Amino acid sequence: MSALAARTGAVNLGQGFPDFDGPPSMLERARRAIAEGVNQYPPGIGDPDLRNAITEHQQRWYGIDLDPDSQVLVTAGATEGIAAAMLGLLEPGDEVVLLEPYYDSYAATIALAGGVRRPVRLEPPDFALPREAMAAAVGPRTRLILLNSPHNPTGMVLGRDDLAFIAELAVRHDLIVVTDEVYEHLTFDGVPHLPLSTLPGMAERTITLSSAGKTFSATGWKIGWATGPAELVAAVRAAKQFLTYVNGAPFQPAVADALRLPDSYFDDFRMALQTKRDRLIGGLGAAGIATFRPSGTYFVVADARSLGFDDGYQLCRELPELCGVVAVPMQVFYDDPAGARHLVRFAFCKRDEVLDEAVRRLRTIGPN
Ligand code: PMP
Repeated sequence: MSALAARTGAVNLGQGFPDFDGPPSMLERARRAIAEGVNQYPPGIGDPDLRNAITEHQQRWYGIDLDPDSQVLVTAGATEGIAAAMLGLLEPGDEVVLLEPYYDSYAATIALAGGVRRPVRLEPPDFALPREAMAAAVGPRTRLILLNSPHNPTGMVLGRDDLAFIAELAVRHDLIVVTDEVYEHLTFDGVPHLPLSTLPGMAERTITLSSAGKTFSATGWKIGWATGPAELVAAVRAAKQFLTYVNGAPFQPAVADALRLPDSYFDDFRMALQTKRDRLIGGLGAAGIATFRPSGTYFVVADARSLGFDDGYQLCRELPELCGVVAVPMQVFYDDPAGARHLVRFAFCKRDEVLDEAVRRLRTIGPN
């Protein structure tokens, strides 16, 4: 879709990357690191200062205690964290329960590890956790639950009750949970992000993944991290060793600095994205396009039927020609897209003028 946007000159609200830069001090720190010669392999588990900064961040925001030497691993983005977790923690035939729709690397990496996915569907309009279906998906072969909250692509954020339900399920069946929390700082309307690992019984069985890409608007840097109990982190590290070994030396001190930014950076970032959410939803609404209001992430799901399309894939193929806008069909995030064919996803991590221009263009084909 990004290639289509580039080819047609369309406004790209497809792929989820910001069109603005992260904190200037972080960018400057990376430039300085390169100038100072931080250009060779960093330690395999990551730069010690970055691992300290990650533990400080988990303590400051969530009260989580981690040993930076055994419970933290720097990864090449959360994408590598996901791959290394699946490869390191699954044996062929192991089943993985995961929320559907899901970020596309989940299916691929479960398959690479020889695992079998057991999707649990989130349904519009609220994409709430279907507890019974989740409990029913857990069977004798289940090894792992792969969670994502705040959730891409729906924008759903799991609340304490849902997390407690999942925790109880994981403890009862002695499961590992890998929780992808890359949008941890992007929750809106006062909805808190609660790391699953803070729930009773979970610290010893949870690998938490996050990434500087989202929190510091640097998706191209590919600095992520996995945290959790030492044995599980060691398993993830064993896989990472042969995926990339190490990554992004000069970006690591820069991300360490960014993680130590005052609370105001994180609060301002959250508010800025909430305002962008409201701007896009308001604009789409005024154009007559129905949306589902996300509580987190930088995505909003819209109903293609508002534009006269039953099929979101067809809409997304035609949208660049129709009015010069790119979105992503939700179908790509499902094993079985039945019931979700009419949904499309827009990203709102874009400059205000870009959001406004997209809305202006959509209005030319919208019902209003
Ligand atoms: N998990 C989710 C849910 C995502 O949306 C993304 C990015 N789109 C990632 C992981 C990947 O993160 P990174 O860029 O750090 O690899």
